[in-house]
Amino acid sequence: MIESRKNDRAAWIKGPIAKCSVVPDEPPRAWRLVLLGAPGVGKGTQAEMLTERLGVCHLSTGDVFRAASKSCNGVQTAAMTEALRYMREGRLVPDTTVWDIIRERVGCIRCCGGFVLDGFPRTIVQAEALERLMTEQQVFLDAVLDYELPTEEIVARLSGRRVCPKCKAVFHASQRPPRKENVCDHCGSPLIQREDDRPESIKVRLKTYEEDTAPLIDFYRKIGRLVSVSAAGSADEVFERSMVALEAAITDGPLRSRDPREAIIGIGRPGHLTRGHSDPL
Ligand code: AMP
Repeated sequence: MIESRKNDRAAWIKGPIAKCSVVPDEPPRAWRLVLLGAPGVGKGTQAEMLTERLGVCHLSTGDVFRAASKSCNGVQTAAMTEALRYMREGRLVPDTTVWDIIRERVGCIRCCGGFVLDGFPRTIVQAEALERLMTEQQVFLDAVLDYELPTEEIVARLSGRRVCPKCKAVFHASQRPPRKENVCDHCGSPLIQREDDRPESIKVRLKTYEEDTAPLIDFYRKIGRLVSVSAAGSADEVFERSMVALEAAITDGPLRSRDPREAIIGIGRPGHLTRGHSDPL
């Protein structure tokens, strides 16, 4: 584990013409992780904590869309304007738009500092495309942490969530309150409730998760990358559980090998698991 310096993730948030504030030195092990779990299980918080502990970059597709919606240059592509409409309604942005964003940021995927992907992939099509991209770039996914939590708890978490629009820190009105009410502990900005955390959007997002994203659990189980973690309890407890599960899987479990194709006999190319219900990207 290495000590990290806070990276502004400029190349991820704004696109590859922007330069990140921290150019990573190659760490002893560049972790490449995906976080799965319904909206509200605390993936963003865990991503922040993993980022700090492992010295990797927090790559959130939701953050890319939120940054685009606040961008002052005013000019948005038609695809991005449409994507933001989907986001406000709590629906998934079309795979092709999301993929354009990822493809453009391929430098972040192969970055020697590693990453924690949060909010991507969200469909089988996206997961297959990511597998192909990583194989092409000769980098491998270490693990997919799947956070599990009962639905009632998820709804309570989402409706109390408050985020910092400036530094992206995540709080909860009752379970993880900031030191001063509605003010970010890290940068002092006023906290906000995300538009898609309103009750009508929450309903749509949970349904979307069940239909489109939950099948990824099986997808990653089949290629031997899945590590299940209970998301009950405090953020610190969940984090410790994540680290224990990750270490155990890496030392004794199916993740000993970095390349899933070495670990799982019989699985050839990543596209192998296509389910046939949607077209590849
Ligand atoms: P998040 O912050 O990850 O919850 O993302 C917020 C919203 O952005 C989602 O509800 C979607 O509308 C959109 N979004 C983010 N990532 C994706 C993705 N990988 N695929 C489709 N839509 C996405």
